[in-house]
Formats: sequence, C-alpha cells, structure tokens
Amino acid sequence: MTVRVAVTGATGRMGGEVLAAAADRDDVDVVLAVSRSAGETVEGVAVEAADDLPELLAERDPDVLVDFTGPESCVEYAAACAEAGVAVVSGTTGLGDDGFDALRNVAADVPVLYASNFSRGIAALRRAVREAVPALDGYDIELTETHHNAKRDAPSGTALTILEDIDDVRGAAERVHGREGEAPRSEGEVGVHARRAGDIAGEHEVLLAGNHESLSLTHRAGSRGVFAAGALDAAAWLSGRDAEWYDFTEVLE
Ligand code: NAD
Repeated sequence: MTVRVAVTGATGRMGGEVLAAAADRDDVDVVLAVSRSAGETVEGVAVEAADDLPELLAERDPDVLVDFTGPESCVEYAAACAEAGVAVVSGTTGLGDDGFDALRNVAADVPVLYASNFSRGIAALRRAVREAVPALDGYDIELTETHHNAKRDAPSGTALTILEDIDDVRGAAERVHGREGEAPRSEGEVGVHARRAGDIAGEHEVLLAGNHESLSLTHRAGSRGVFAAGALDAAAWLSGRDAEWYDFTEVLE
C-alpha cells in the first residue's frame, strides 16, 4: 500500500531531504508540500502556501504529515492535522514543555510519532549509553554535540533526549552548559557542550571517564538523508494506526 504523505517546511533543509528520499521510494507518495513561502518547486514538487494548510489537507487527503519546521509551526500544523484526521510525524526540535503538551493533546485525535532524531545509529547509541552509564558507576560524563551554523536551538533535541536517558538510568543530575573561568567540576554533574560550525549534519559524543580510563560513544550523521529515511519509515509505519503517542523505537522494533 502506498502511503499518501504531506511535507511541511518543504523549502527547508530537512523538507528538501524528505522530498528527495520520497521520490526514491515506492511505499510513499507525496501529495502535498507546503512552506511559509509558496511558488518554489523542490525535487519536482510544487510548494504551496502553509497558510492554506487546513484547506489543502481536506483537498489532498494525505494519510500522514511529515514535519521538520520550527516549534511554533509544528504545533500549528499538528493542530490542523487533528482537525483533518491526518497522522503526524514530527522531528522538529526546540518545542519546550508547552509545545510537547500541545503535541500530546493532538495524539488524542490522531496518531503522532515524535522523535528528536530519526537515525538508527542514534537509537543504537542511546541503548549503548543506557548500558554504559550504570556499568561505569561514578565516572564523569560529558556530552558534546556539533551541528551546522544555522541551527536555532541548543543543546540539540537529540542531546536533550540522551540527557534524559542518562537521568533515567543514573538519577537526575546537575547539567553544566559549557565552563568558563573558575569552574571546577562537581561530583555527578553532566557537562553539556554545543558547537556550531559549517554544514555539519549532526554529531553527538558521550564521554565517560574515571578509574584511569575513558569510554567515548560517538555518532556522526554523514548526511541529512539518514533522518529523512527514518522519518519516511515512521510515516509508512504510522499510517492507519490508532490515535496515540508513538516513539521511533517502536518503528525500529
Ligand atoms: P531549515 O531552517 O532549513 O528549514 C525549516 C523550514 O521550516 C523552512 O522551510 C522554514 O520556512 C520552515 N519554518 C520554520 N519556522 C517556521 C514557522 N514558524 N512557521 C512556518 N514555517 C517555518 O531547518 P532544518 O535544518 O530543515 O531543520 C528543521 C527542524 O528539524 C529543526 O527543528 C531541526 O532541529 C530538526 N531536525 C530534526 C531531525 C530529526 O532527526 N528529528 C534531523 C534534522 C533536523
């Protein structure tokens, strides 16, 4: 069965990657692409005005909307999907508590799958971190993430997800974002560092050190295509499911 997909933020970096990845697949069909500015053609798809999204959803009847935009638009588009009965896959980061609450409300009406990272490698990194942290009790932990110079939010949504994983297995810890001046490490804190440079798609390193040894777990995304592929896998998996909140790990399992 071919899943009918709508893409928001179609003129953005990830929107373009999703359209390119969809063109290479038989299991998804892009029936709608919108962006803040209409009129462009991306990967052979005409981009329409996001302001008209409610009408366009009714007219094109997609099964799933794939969203990589900004926190405000993500919530606004998801609400339009709840009205139209369209499932939502979102990878937009920087949502904050209010944004997540609004998105979870949408899951009462339509299926919603949210992931701060749609790569299989990050899913494996998260499992490795959840195993390594309790095995290396008392070791210092430092998390470093690196992204392209246009990224808005810091630390990355993926870094926040990994920090939650660490808190889950070790108990909530103080997070120290960068250090400057007289700033000795206190026991149990987790150092968090965000670098912004060039066109780097995404790198995350979890460093555990103690007992005269160190363990470094690192993931590097070679291109944004890896996230687009994961999001479309999620869209194909989500179509036709019950209205609920879903996690990307369920798609991988
Ligand atoms: P981008 O700036 O290249 O593109 C964003 C697109 O969304 C643009 O088309 C822009 O016009 C639109 N947009 C942004 N804010 C908007 C608003 N308020 N209203 C309407 N449209 C709006 O950014 P990008 O690199 O494509 O990243 C988009 C989002 O996806 C970011 O939150 C980023 O962190 C996230 N991301 C997630 C993953 C993942 O695997 N979950 C991977 C990469 C990027």
